[in-house]
Amino acid sequence: MSDSYDILIIGGGIAGLSLAAELAPHASVCLLEREPHLAYHASGRSAAMYIGDYGNDIVRALNHASEASHHAGGILSPKPMLMLGRAEDEGRFDVEAAGLGLSRVPLAEAQPFFPLLDPAVITRTAMRHDTYAMDTDLMVQNARRAALKGGVVIKTGAEVVALQHCGLWQVTAGDRTFTAKTLVNAAGAWTDEIASLAGVRPLGIQPYRRSMAVLPLPEGLDTSGWAFVDAAGERWYAKAQAGKLLVSPSEADPMPPMDAWADDMVLAEGLARFEEMVTLEVTRLEHSWAGLRSFAPDHALVIGRAPSHPDFLWLAGQGGYGFQTAPAAARLAADLLLGRTPELPAEVVSALSPARFG
Ligand SMILES: Cc1cc2nc3c(=O)[nH]c(=O)nc-3n(C[C@H](O)[C@H](O)[C@H](O)COP(=O)(O)OP(=O)(O)OC[C@H]3O[C@@H](n4cnc5c(N)ncnc54)[C@H](O)[C@@H]3O)c2cc1C
Repeated sequence: MSDSYDILIIGGGIAGLSLAAELAPHASVCLLEREPHLAYHASGRSAAMYIGDYGNDIVRALNHASEASHHAGGILSPKPMLMLGRAEDEGRFDVEAAGLGLSRVPLAEAQPFFPLLDPAVITRTAMRHDTYAMDTDLMVQNARRAALKGGVVIKTGAEVVALQHCGLWQVTAGDRTFTAKTLVNAAGAWTDEIASLAGVRPLGIQPYRRSMAVLPLPEGLDTSGWAFVDAAGERWYAKAQAGKLLVSPSEADPMPPMDAWADDMVLAEGLARFEEMVTLEVTRLEHSWAGLRSFAPDHALVIGRAPSHPDFLWLAGQGGYGFQTAPAAARLAADLLLGRTPELPAEVVSALSPARFG
């Protein structure tokens, strides 16, 4: 059996789904996802934060261009950001805090936003209040619904195993063959593998593992006003959510593309760093997970047609900011696919293009 579309998207994470929703009114689109469920990999494993000044200048341009859409979609709820530093962190604390747009505040002012901080150890605190928790499940569902409503065909359990180009793309997934004029590579950690299958030069998109531990908190604690907490030097970060505390060791361990899981030793070391700075003793882990954050060599996303193959569009390298950048990234990819003038400034568009790698 063969199915024909204008555009085939490989990857049912937030990147592929957001693009499918953007394209739905304008083209016939099919999205292929290997797993039985959408958002199974990185998009099901994030910390779900929006921090406008996270990432390099190009990433920030996408963050800021996405913010209005997040607000309009009801995705964001205020969650301030707090950075903690110890005496040993003083050399880097101010630079890191300033880089994220945080301002120094006295410890007493910061403490209500994270009552677990250990005042005997924490010597510096900095905050900003215009950061947000994201409802990433809602974002995925909104994109899925908009895509389906606009006629996008979404196939799960459809692993792409072969790609051929003879005038049109012929894509083999399971026992089906799909054809399309244009192929979009939104395969997350697997984007370089998809490029190789397509005969397009890989760009060095590297997945890095990041883990998350879920800790129980004492009964009756009201965590609704707690900040997202980042320990200077990327020692750990923490976010209270649904009465639990998520703590990440903030690791960035290079991995091959895979269904990632948390490494016990990495978790134990990260939790030991966490315990050094808080008054909470970690006695029990409720559960843990890990996901892959996939970065291009310059840590900006890659959005654009492959120079050697204009019918192959990269939507890759979402790193640790795939949710917060998704609306603007999807809009740009749709602009490029539909021949519209991009809304983003030309210098941002060219800094995102795969052509920057020569
Ligand atoms: C611990 C952690 C914390 C994070 N925190 C944040 C945060 O606070 N804010 C934020 O904005 N971002 C955060 N991120 C990053 C964010 O989760 C990712 O950038 C984003 O989910 C990437 O989306 P994606 O669609 O590109 O990739 P994915 O969600 O991985 O989707 C790619 C899909 O492609 C599919 N695929 C691959 N190969 C094939 C094939 N051959 N055939 C068919 N399908 C295929 C995969 O099965 C997968 O479902 C975090 C990530 C992690 C791991």
